[in-house]
Amino acid sequence: TITPARRMQTLPEQFFAALVAKANARAATGRDVINLGQGNPDLPTPQSIVDRLKDAADNPAYHKYPPFRGFPFLKQAVAERYLADYGVELDPDKEVAVLFGGKSGLIEISQILLNPGDVCLVPDPGYPDYWSGVALAGAEMEFMPLKEENAFLPDYEALSGEAVRRAKLMFLNYPNNPTAATATPEFYERTVAFARRNGIVVASDFAYGAIGFDGQRPVSFLETPGAKEVGVEFYTLSKSYNMAGWRVGFAIGNRQIVELINLIQDHMYCSLFGGIQEAAAEALTGSQQSVRDLVAVYERRRNVLYEALDAIGWKAGKPAGSFFCWLPVAPGHTSMSFADLLLEQADVVVAPGSGFGKSGEGYVRLGLLTSEDRLREVAVRIGRLGLF
Ligand code: PLP
Repeated sequence: TITPARRMQTLPEQFFAALVAKANARAATGRDVINLGQGNPDLPTPQSIVDRLKDAADNPAYHKYPPFRGFPFLKQAVAERYLADYGVELDPDKEVAVLFGGKSGLIEISQILLNPGDVCLVPDPGYPDYWSGVALAGAEMEFMPLKEENAFLPDYEALSGEAVRRAKLMFLNYPNNPTAATATPEFYERTVAFARRNGIVVASDFAYGAIGFDGQRPVSFLETPGAKEVGVEFYTLSKSYNMAGWRVGFAIGNRQIVELINLIQDHMYCSLFGGIQEAAAEALTGSQQSVRDLVAVYERRRNVLYEALDAIGWKAGKPAGSFFCWLPVAPGHTSMSFADLLLEQADVVVAPGSGFGKSGEGYVRLGLLTSEDRLREVAVRIGRLGLF
């Protein structure tokens, strides 16, 4: 038998892998399962982007190894997008690193900054991949509770002084997975001050940056004065352009961190296939109408679902951004018992809040990732259980 390294023993089970297995087992029995548990966008990539890849696939220049740190045209496209959308000026060569989805960078940043014994501040509830990176680095986590009464923003004053002293890195994620909350410029100003005062690097996960509702444009952390001195933003095409399968993301901001991420990637990969880089540049520099259309689709789905849930007595505040809904469980349930009940009695898959951390207990997360009709059907099926 093979003995894995100790660091592998500290890795938690991949939460979504377990959830998918449960849902698939149920569907395999022939039931009509509606899966709102995962964060996998159901819409296709815009055709102009797909066409660009098809043409680029014939280019022999892309059949060789790509440049280690990505093609300059792609980093230039990111800089243009940030300037147009957020008014943030970037040096494409020094302040943008090309990643394999945001996810690879979210793991790498722990590798480049954390020694064993260091502390990383992580949001609770939060995206479980932050934990994996910290575990692989042999570092410790200090959870920052995100409470509804604080609009799901962390309260820096309430953190343990000892943990803050030992902390070297902090993850933030707005629009937020799973609570669907958005951040304010004032919160980010407080964050920059807190990070400066305590020598903590900020990793802003902006995976849902394009998805804000009711005419509200989500704020980028990099818009905050001084942000580039203390942190980086992880930006990805997965959600905003329905390109989750293409694995394109970026680390943007602080030069030293961008250089360290590039360095670790030099050793691990070359870069993305050139044709994908060209298609990604098309996404970033072409018409942004597809992004506006996508936000409108999610907003309509949100309205349909909340109206239908309201009608069965399941009431909650509407999400401000992302494509998730964060809802309280029915009385008398834990998030896990409630999710199991919905799977077994309504054939509806939701993600139990406790999978995102201790403070997620009492909630479930539903993804707006199926048609309006199927979302109405979800409410009808749950309504039949008479829980609310
Ligand atoms: N960060 C958050 C909060 C996410 O929800 C996801 C994907 O679900 C990611 C990062 C990973 O995105 P990518 O596809 O860019 O790796």
